[in-house]
Amino acid sequence: MTLPSQAAIVVIGGGIIGCSTAYHLARDHKADVVLLEQGKLTSGSTWHAAGLVGQLRSSASITRVLKYSVDLYKGLEAETGLATGWKMTGCLRLATNADRWTEHKRLATTARSFGMDMQLLSPAEVKAMWPLMETGDLVGASWLPTDGQASPSDITQSLAKGARMHGAKLFEDVRVTGFEMKDGRITVVKTSEGDITCDKVVNCAGQWARQVGALAGINVPLQPVKHQYIITEKIDGLATDAPTIRDPDRRTYFKEEVGGLVMGGYEPNPQAWTTGDVPNDWEFRLFDDDYDHFEQHMMQAIARVPALETVGVKQMINGPESFTPDGNFILGTAPECANMFVGAGFNAFGIASGGGAGWVLAQWVVDGEAPLDLWVVDIRRFSNLHRDRQWVCDRTLEAYGKHYTIGFPHEEYASGRPRIVSPLYDRLKQQNAVFGSKLGWERPNWFAPQGIEPRDIYSMGRQNWFAAVGDEHRHVREKVGIFDQSSFAKYELSGPDALKALDWICANDVSKPVGRLTYTQLLNTRGGIEADLTVARLAEETFYIVTGTGFRTHDSSWIGDHIGEGLKATLVDVTEDFGTLSLMGPRARDVLAAVTDTDVSNAAFPFGHVREIAIAGHTIRALRVTYVGELGWELHVPIAATGEVFDALMAAGKKHDIRPVGYRALESLRLEKGYRAWGSDITPNDTPQEAGLGWAVKLRKNTDFIGRRALETASGTALKKRFAGFTVDDPEIVLLGRETILRDGEPVGYLTSGGYGYTLGMNIGYGYVRNADGVSDDFLASGDYELVVAMERTPAKIHLEPMYDPAAERVKA
Ligand SMILES: Cc1cc2nc3c(=O)[nH]c(=O)nc-3n(C[C@H](O)[C@H](O)[C@H](O)COP(=O)(O)OP(=O)(O)OC[C@H]3O[C@@H](n4cnc5c(N)ncnc54)[C@H](O)[C@@H]3O)c2cc1C
Repeated sequence: MTLPSQAAIVVIGGGIIGCSTAYHLARDHKADVVLLEQGKLTSGSTWHAAGLVGQLRSSASITRVLKYSVDLYKGLEAETGLATGWKMTGCLRLATNADRWTEHKRLATTARSFGMDMQLLSPAEVKAMWPLMETGDLVGASWLPTDGQASPSDITQSLAKGARMHGAKLFEDVRVTGFEMKDGRITVVKTSEGDITCDKVVNCAGQWARQVGALAGINVPLQPVKHQYIITEKIDGLATDAPTIRDPDRRTYFKEEVGGLVMGGYEPNPQAWTTGDVPNDWEFRLFDDDYDHFEQHMMQAIARVPALETVGVKQMINGPESFTPDGNFILGTAPECANMFVGAGFNAFGIASGGGAGWVLAQWVVDGEAPLDLWVVDIRRFSNLHRDRQWVCDRTLEAYGKHYTIGFPHEEYASGRPRIVSPLYDRLKQQNAVFGSKLGWERPNWFAPQGIEPRDIYSMGRQNWFAAVGDEHRHVREKVGIFDQSSFAKYELSGPDALKALDWICANDVSKPVGRLTYTQLLNTRGGIEADLTVARLAEETFYIVTGTGFRTHDSSWIGDHIGEGLKATLVDVTEDFGTLSLMGPRARDVLAAVTDTDVSNAAFPFGHVREIAIAGHTIRALRVTYVGELGWELHVPIAATGEVFDALMAAGKKHDIRPVGYRALESLRLEKGYRAWGSDITPNDTPQEAGLGWAVKLRKNTDFIGRRALETASGTALKKRFAGFTVDDPEIVLLGRETILRDGEPVGYLTSGGYGYTLGMNIGYGYVRNADGVSDDFLASGDYELVVAMERTPAKIHLEPMYDPAAERVKA
């Protein structure tokens, strides 16, 4: 077959991800697809994978993607005639201490929230299932019967055959060497065998995806790391259908293979491979065996399966795999180039993910938008910071080292910090701030009072900051606090067509007079919420847009990509131009009035307005908004003046007892007020109507906007899920999200957010209540609710209105 000179879609890479993507593009979309592989199919990381296939992740959508893989692998042979080696052996995940056991109980609840029957087993039950295992140190194990194992090369060959059967053209020994670009888009893929003109390119080049991306100016922040496992000779008494084992406290995993065991692990001291380019001639290649490094796993594995001490090792595999700074893979439209899509960085679960990742990526390529909420793997979760290879390497190695450590709630990464600091960093540090990091920014999570060590001490129950955050929370409710939110992403959209562009992009009506703010969602074509932000009209043709720190690349790409063809509107990221100080609390007005000549009375400066005001001789953009439910302003200060303005506010606020407050108090405050957080409470899977945000959608106006058609189509039908709040009285309970919601004893959904409300003195959770026949007010109100928290049921009360309404409280007072 000769290489075509033209194709609608070129997929680069013939590993499991490329083959799965080509298969789905051809099968589901009848697309004109060419796949190019520089060596032979599977010759990158795929051929040497161990082949464990697990399904549970902390995101419901990603769990769905992984479940899809399993369904695909089960049935693929019937379609293609090529076996995948799929065996549903189930997976045992062991626990040897109380914290791990709590983690497993929470995992089992998450699994059930996502519709998977994970069970908890006693050591005796584990022993009965896996008699060769030493179980004396076990507290128990979780058991997911539908997990299993498969043959990575066989699946890939089966997918490749399926792709060909559906019309895709696959070429081996063809290397992509560059791209021709026009107006930021790829027009031609240059290869060792000639050029291919194309509409879209999918970069599934595994650990080479970074350098392939770089050929088009795209950043794919992954790091190849050496990962090792051994394959033993036959072990007497080992069943061929023995479950796979994950033994996280001993950092190891096991899988049966031809009567012997595959055993590998995630060490705390991983070995990065190159931070330079990966050699092109790395076909079917491995590193030398490194038994010195592997010994740590060997010792732990022998303690678990003593038969390993005497059995011979048939082979050691030491291969490179791409890992990422947050342990999640990388999918979607590259923000730097509208027609390059990426599927790479699979963190040693590419076999488990392959089927499903190819399915959703193919849909994404065809539609130009993700088919479901894929935020946790979306390439737009990164920023320019991730162009720093050493930073990416350091953070990736930390994430690798934590693969099997206990996942404590609220845990922060330690590497590569501090990286980006606000001008207030030193001042806040002096006030005992304990920082967290978000997209490289240091942000104060809480402030340690005198006598408390300013650092997080993690545990499964209430952590050491709990009481201090309560004080900060009450301070904002009763007096006034100041939050350093300088890391907020900020853009300006300007030009004669700026309003027209935003009318189309925003679900709410932004065509308000100069000086007004609009809280709005940005919807996808399904009516799902792609972003949630504030738009301030600064001038007729200038809008200032503020969104969450982590959404910087995502939201600017979404807005940039949807500015209508030919419109005169320019989007500029001004994040670093402004520090942001949020002054919140009943005394906020008194403090602000003391530092500015502008009239900040309610009549002169009402809610939902933006004004330029002067503080300490600097011009500030003051936005009257709140995320805590109290009177307040977000003050956007020229970055260099942030310290000076902060000092002025602190000095003027002294008599009002002002104090700095951190992000953990902010979270508690917003939970009480019922503000939704994008990425958890509201996602591309949820419409504003389902989220109870229909009031912020301009359906009554005659302006078209993205998502309008979908919302109108759905408007005649009953909502199948609705967002609701829950409170739990029991003070011992810790809510984190993903706990199952039971209505009259039946599962109807799970929490998307969970935390503690200090003013209410109760645990608070939010989530969607689902019902196939529709969720009416009556349905919501008439049930008896419980939450399942770490496998235990606890009574809960449902709330359809904000649980705490400060304005109402004050009227009452
Ligand atoms: C030791 C080890 C054990 C593992 N165990 C498991 C496991 O148990 N379960 C699991 O789910 N995952 C496991 N993995 C991970 C799994 O192997 C990977 O996640 C998966 O294979 C990644 O597939 P891929 O298609 O992204 O990459 P690859 O298989 O590397 O495919 C990328 C392809 O792109 C080609 N390419 C690169 N550049 C170009 C170019 N310029 N032109 C054309 N072609 C190009 C390469 O030649 C390569 O074939 C393991 C990995 C390792 C290293």
